[in-house]
Amino acid sequence: MTTDKYIKNYIDGALAPAVSGQYLDNYNPATGKVYSHLPDSDENDVQRAVEAAGRAFREWSTAEPRTRFRLLMRIADIIEQNMETFARAETMDSGKPLSMSMSVDIPRAQANFRFFATAVLQFGSESHHMPGEAINFTLRQPLGVVGCISPWNLPLYLFTWKIAPALATGNCVVGKPSELTPMTAYLLSKACIEAGLPPGVLNIVHGLGPKAGQAIVEHPKVKAISFTGGTATGQQIARTAAPVFKKLSLELGGKNPNIIFADCNFDEMMVGTLRSSFSNNGQICLCGPRIYVERPLYEKFRDELVKRTQFLKVGDPFSTVADLGALVSKQHLEKVQSYLSLAEVEGGTILCGGNRLEMQGEFENGYFLRPAVIEGLPLECRTNQEEIFGPVVSIAPFDTEAEAIALANGTQYGLSATVWTQDISRANRVAEQLQAGIVWVNCWMVRDLRTPFGGVKNSGVGREGGSEALRFFTEPKNVCVKYG
Ligand code: NAD
Repeated sequence: MTTDKYIKNYIDGALAPAVSGQYLDNYNPATGKVYSHLPDSDENDVQRAVEAAGRAFREWSTAEPRTRFRLLMRIADIIEQNMETFARAETMDSGKPLSMSMSVDIPRAQANFRFFATAVLQFGSESHHMPGEAINFTLRQPLGVVGCISPWNLPLYLFTWKIAPALATGNCVVGKPSELTPMTAYLLSKACIEAGLPPGVLNIVHGLGPKAGQAIVEHPKVKAISFTGGTATGQQIARTAAPVFKKLSLELGGKNPNIIFADCNFDEMMVGTLRSSFSNNGQICLCGPRIYVERPLYEKFRDELVKRTQFLKVGDPFSTVADLGALVSKQHLEKVQSYLSLAEVEGGTILCGGNRLEMQGEFENGYFLRPAVIEGLPLECRTNQEEIFGPVVSIAPFDTEAEAIALANGTQYGLSATVWTQDISRANRVAEQLQAGIVWVNCWMVRDLRTPFGGVKNSGVGREGGSEALRFFTEPKNVCVKYG
């Protein structure tokens, strides 16, 4: 399997350019140069994709679960066999270290297919017995044609996290990956063709969000939208889809707190906190950019965090020694830099990092930034309230458990939170009061695919993961049979 200079849409089982023949540039963030092109699709391509999906639906939705299981497992096998090609493409598109693409992104993409292929074989439905009178049973039927729209930070990982459960439950899909990271979705098209997935079951339309993405959301034959991305985009999607009663799953932004109590296991906490601060350059919705530390530990923590942050190696994402690669785009780099300037205006002190990395040769124009630690900012300031989504953390001390909880809950977001303490009662008390869809105690990013995944407040609506995803992609129908 190979990447190509000109990416194509995958519609009705075949690879094709956009109807308009137009292409968009695809940049390598490590060099700042265009290295390939993707179709600039519009409503005509979406129309073709929805029609193909509609034609495929009857056969796919009525196929035995075992047939779907076999095909999805075959796609997973092909991804696994081509792990390095997929991983290199992910790194080239996103700027993340190859070590991360090889150990996280691509293994998880194939695991998503395996997990949901298997899960659908175990998926049952309920019955409610009215003794001597009637039996109710619940049919769980696929919705029809559904839209899956994903962001650039974990490209294939999040795209397949939606597509796999949608297909496993018998839906046909029109998917759109981010225009910033389209290459692994293109490779997935090739994997689907090689696996023998029937034409139209999965269609992948590339292009811009407000054009191709919006056309998917607007299309009357698309029954549900599973979306992961920014909160403002989620609002736009809800505005379009809610009045026509489409089912919606919205996984949106975050500004997650990391609460560190003085009794924590310091070494484990430091390792976990460095990861939750700067993995993937802080471009993971679950990263913890607001760090609150119990006062007796604050200075020791601050000095150690700055030391370890300065030690992180930023550079060529294909090198084996890089901890951090490039940020995803010039626009995103400039956004992150603008928040660093704002932090100083708002009274913060940048303790380390925040400057662009001077690189030579081919990386001279890459979007590299040194990870930054800021202190001295109040909760209410924009730096602490708005999602930066970069290698930037803000640290502050707290005195009481109640204060820590108030700080943690003090933003519009509620995706995840992390708590470090050796006191099990406190861990439970705090977890119970945190406004978040996911709470990690003494760990970060430990993921069991069976658990509900999603946020509260402006971090989203609905849950993905395990049976939540299977339920989202099916419509329950109660059948009541009277007897006696
Ligand atoms: P984004 O909202 O800009 O784009 C996400 C996707 O939506 C892209 O494919 C884009 O083309 C598409 N899109 C844009 N406008 C659209 C429209 N009007 N209609 C339909 N589709 C449209 O987000 P991004 O910058 O790609 O990703 C970063 C954001 O994603 C961050 O806010 C991050 O927190 C969030 N995120 C959330 C989760 C989660 O699980 N909650 C996971 C990863 C990322």
